[in-house]
Amino acid sequence: MRIYLSADLEGICGVVDVEHTRRDGREHDRARKWMIQEVNAAVEGALRAGAEKIVVNDSHGTMRNLLPEELHPEAELIIGSPKPMSMLEGLSRDFDGTFFVGYHARSGAFGVLSHTYSGRVVADLKVNGRSIGEPGLNGLVSNFYGVPVALISGDQFAVGEARDLFPGVVGVITKEAIGRYVAKCPSPEKARKMIEEGAFKAVNLLRSGDIKPIQVPSPIEIQLKFLNPGMADLAQILPGSERIDPLTLRYVAKNMSEAYKAIRVMIYLGYSTLK
Ligand SMILES: [Zn+2]
Repeated sequence: MRIYLSADLEGICGVVDVEHTRRDGREHDRARKWMIQEVNAAVEGALRAGAEKIVVNDSHGTMRNLLPEELHPEAELIIGSPKPMSMLEGLSRDFDGTFFVGYHARSGAFGVLSHTYSGRVVADLKVNGRSIGEPGLNGLVSNFYGVPVALISGDQFAVGEARDLFPGVVGVITKEAIGRYVAKCPSPEKARKMIEEGAFKAVNLLRSGDIKPIQVPSPIEIQLKFLNPGMADLAQILPGSERIDPLTLRYVAKNMSEAYKAIRVMIYLGYSTLK
């Protein structure tokens, strides 16, 4: 069993504020430690269930949050940015399952620090008519490569999105969101135990065939709604995109991989207009 693990920060137990998630945040260094501890718990659970290879992709902000010296010795770490495939860099058909650790709810939804890729750019992302966030988007791309989502950890809304889309996924709720910046949390130690157990279970479910890749439809219709029209003004230079209202671009991709790349280009272009 080969596991691909994408780790974000907003869904880590104890993380509720930009002071935790921003590079210059006053509590960022503590949050980074919680993050690598949760990643290591998932690695430990997967190894205990017989996984042979685990590649961890640091998927938050600068993508240099996870401390290499504290990484589980049996895992490998993809660190640094920019990465062409961002939160999914290094994912390929060679993996048997994907883990999402520390994931969060989508832009505009309930959930701690909810956003979709860029909280300063994306108001809403629809894929084939349905609003989705990072659990859904990254999970659809992973399934397109034939790699099912086997584990997700985060608040109840992040886990809920994955459960709606990916049957059989093991969900570990590491905190209960009360507001965008408020959550009820178990102790980090308890959260890590739940993640380790979840990872153990997920690898066993992959092995028994109880978690299988879903069929991802094609073509894929994207509707990306920006936070202001200036972003759509520039992002509409993406060939094939269509402006359907002041804030929204539509794009029809031949498959989920192309859809993901188009979304990333639109977000980059939107971001570049920020004053
Ligand atoms: Zn993040």
